[in-house]
Amino acid sequence: EQKYYILIDYRGEIPMGSLQDYRKDFDILNSGDYVYFDNAATSQRPRQVLDAVTNFYKTANANPLRGLYDWSVAATDAYENARCTVADFIGAKRAEEIIFTRNTTESLNLVAYSYGLENVHEEDEIVVSVMEHHSNLLPWQMVARKNGAKLVFLEPDEEGIISKEEYESKITDKTKIVAIGHVSNVMGITNPVKEIAEYAHSKGAIVVVDGAQSTPHMPVNVQEIGADFFALSGHKMLAPMGIGALYGRYELLEKMQPFLTGGEMIEYVTRTDATYAEIPHKFEAGTVNAGDAVGLAAAIEYIKNVGFDTIEEQELKLTKKLMEGLAKMPYIKVYGSKDYRKHCGIVTFTMEGVHPHDMSSVLNDDHVCIRAGHHCAQPLMQFIGAGSTARASVYFYNTEEEVDIFLDKLSKVREVMG
Ligand code: PLP
Repeated sequence: EQKYYILIDYRGEIPMGSLQDYRKDFDILNSGDYVYFDNAATSQRPRQVLDAVTNFYKTANANPLRGLYDWSVAATDAYENARCTVADFIGAKRAEEIIFTRNTTESLNLVAYSYGLENVHEEDEIVVSVMEHHSNLLPWQMVARKNGAKLVFLEPDEEGIISKEEYESKITDKTKIVAIGHVSNVMGITNPVKEIAEYAHSKGAIVVVDGAQSTPHMPVNVQEIGADFFALSGHKMLAPMGIGALYGRYELLEKMQPFLTGGEMIEYVTRTDATYAEIPHKFEAGTVNAGDAVGLAAAIEYIKNVGFDTIEEQELKLTKKLMEGLAKMPYIKVYGSKDYRKHCGIVTFTMEGVHPHDMSSVLNDDHVCIRAGHHCAQPLMQFIGAGSTARASVYFYNTEEEVDIFLDKLSKVREVMG
């Protein structure tokens, strides 16, 4: 029974308030006249998160998990307490099921290297969707290539939906792993991960969920959705860059070999051999990123304070306005569902006669930040027949006035381009 206490007490500093109050916590949003609509790439961070990180270094900085003196113990407690916060936030059964990583990409690579390479064999199949971010595709390409397995692709319909018929026809007794994004970073669609996991489990496969785009926007319970592994990135949910997490089912993690080896992850080392530490430390080689783990815990407390009901309500309001505005521009094509409620704050589109890169740079002249490109999802771009698209993505701290500015500036892009 481990007991951790909160040394870095940031919680009292987070206000309970209106969305306008919360917005005041984001200095960068209030520092000029920029409209930041690239939240799917990375969110902004509130002052409380930055303070939590700074306070860690000011009050508890020492190498965690190593020293026997007060500061090191304080750093260890802060770090392990952050692990408990993440575990609780995504509904893990126990804190040891949370491994801190740099980001979703590292989490998914850990699963591919430590679980995939060991458990996928020749003739086996790995099922992914055509919508996957490259982070949830390339690790599986690597496993398939090295072990002679086959990649099978789930394809969505026009609205971005992966149907029951589709996944039931592609997930078979040959499937060993189903790796699926919870929310698409291009379409914004929420995939039916719970149903897919149920079906995959009935075929004996394990399920890896890429939660990079879901955790910032909706309550997640890894047990409820049946994820065997679940990956997230702190930077998309108000936390610093460089901290992420992997949830893994205890029984699976226990059997897996480490992805990285070295200091910190061992029990005993001889000249030629080593026994490894218990999970989660077996998977956290080297000095850990305790400061940013504390930042992630502060971000989670912040999100909990705002509340997912409020987050969702605001995102729906903004997405509705955004899509209604785009619908009035006949030269704009929006991808994915026509229903604004199925976009998770993400709207991807193209403009007739204007390359998305040009669109983005003209908007930048007006201090409007959107994303343009392939969004690290080139197979999806090929599937929808677009080389590149523009993407506007909102978070709860964005406002209706910002949507108005965005739509106004966007409607003038074609004029500017001549
Ligand atoms: N998966 C999805 C759905 C994403 O949107 C992203 C980031 O854009 C990633 C994975 C990769 O996240 P990171 O770059 O933080 O590893």
